[in-house]
Amino acid sequence: MKIAVIGTGYVGLVTGTCLAESGNNVICMDIDERKIALLKSGIVPIYEPGLEELIKRNTSHGRLSFTTDMAKAVMMSDFIFIAVGTPPGEDGSADLKYVTGAARKIGKYMNGYKVVINKSTVPVGTADKVRAAIKSKTHYKFDVVSNPEFLKEGAAIEDFLKPDRVVIGVDNSRAAALMEDLYTPLLRKGDRILIMDIRSAEMTKYASNAMLATKISFINEISSICASLDADIDSVRKGMGYDRRIGFEFLFPGVGYGGSCFPKDVKALVRTAKEHGVDAKVLKSVEAVNEQQKNLLSTMILQHFSRGAGKSRNSRSPLAGKTIAVWGLSFKPKTDDMREAPSVVIIENLLRAGAAVNVHDPVAMQEARKFFKNKIKYLHVDYDAIKGADALAVVTEWSEFRTPDFRKIKRLMNRPVIFDGRNIYNKVELRKLGFIYYGIGRN
Ligand code: NAD
Repeated sequence: MKIAVIGTGYVGLVTGTCLAESGNNVICMDIDERKIALLKSGIVPIYEPGLEELIKRNTSHGRLSFTTDMAKAVMMSDFIFIAVGTPPGEDGSADLKYVTGAARKIGKYMNGYKVVINKSTVPVGTADKVRAAIKSKTHYKFDVVSNPEFLKEGAAIEDFLKPDRVVIGVDNSRAAALMEDLYTPLLRKGDRILIMDIRSAEMTKYASNAMLATKISFINEISSICASLDADIDSVRKGMGYDRRIGFEFLFPGVGYGGSCFPKDVKALVRTAKEHGVDAKVLKSVEAVNEQQKNLLSTMILQHFSRGAGKSRNSRSPLAGKTIAVWGLSFKPKTDDMREAPSVVIIENLLRAGAAVNVHDPVAMQEARKFFKNKIKYLHVDYDAIKGADALAVVTEWSEFRTPDFRKIKRLMNRPVIFDGRNIYNKVELRKLGFIYYGIGRN
């Protein structure tokens, strides 16, 4: 099949590459000339495990190409995916200017029947706007389909090639049949290709992300209650998770959710609900708990140094003159994505309180420079970041941080204090080794 993907970001690039991998001819289009130039020269502008290899294979076999030329992309293709960004507007609603802008261009260059598939996360009713934008520019027939994407950054290839389910919103059987043909190679039994009406498909994406964000805020709130009651969240989490109705997924306390999806999608759903007369009380609380959680680790650090251990008598802020090492910057492991990352809030709070901050992340340091410029020190070796530090804060649970040499850490640090924002360490072992240890909701 001949496919164009408009927007070559995390979702568009993975979608295009994986569809090429399953035998289609794919052209990925973006207005960002730098991004397309990099891709044409074999450089992948984002970090996603396994992606570079797949791009290489499919470009060398001639199934995958890149362009900034919208006319070429549209004219060559029968299926056109829209995978552009839908960032939050000032009022929290999804800003659809990139989606409708792309739709108008698609309409302008149409040269026959096309299936236009919306993969971006968009509020219910957007398909109608996309249809109107295309129709204003063409007299050719076309169908608009909603096909929200559920991939996780860091495991995006696996998620796309072996999806739990594929949600397809259509308003006629021709579009349904074409979409089933497109996805059947990924889900051979076809039982998890869910055909539904367009508005339900658009809503499914928001409902799914809102549920996952709710689980995270829920367990974070429970962890705060545990901390204040001297109960242990690890035990509580296990006690809950073995109940099959609850399960373990997304029940890990931490420093709050981030990334390009949960924060913006929860906000957008609250906004959409409000516009239609529904006060989304649960989702508003999910957001509020998350904001609070992003500030928790820096508050714990400030409180620790205020309590006297290592308090500097002459300075106003207990963190003045202190160096805090931060391990992990991306919003989760296996990605370089820093959008809405809790590390940004934590580090800004620490800097504001007068601390010096040394950071290390396996892949996100370049992205991090866009946020912190030269206000912090970037260390390319994890242990270098903790040399002379008064505390270590673990913010992202990269696997390389899970079993470090604690004796070496203790030798290198100015004071052996660890703030474990992801509860990845054994608190008993660390205390035995002489560390002062803080976790999230651990007694
Ligand atoms: P992104 O910011 O990484 O990529 C968007 C790309 O679209 C950019 O490269 C931009 O230059 C390009 N673009 C903007 N306007 C364009 C136009 N008119 N023509 C061509 N290209 C254009 O965004 P992303 O993370 O890939 O997300 C895309 C959509 O998918 C969003 O709606 C997001 O909510 C949704 N989504 C994201 C994820 C994720 O994990 N990142 C997962 C599921 C769904």
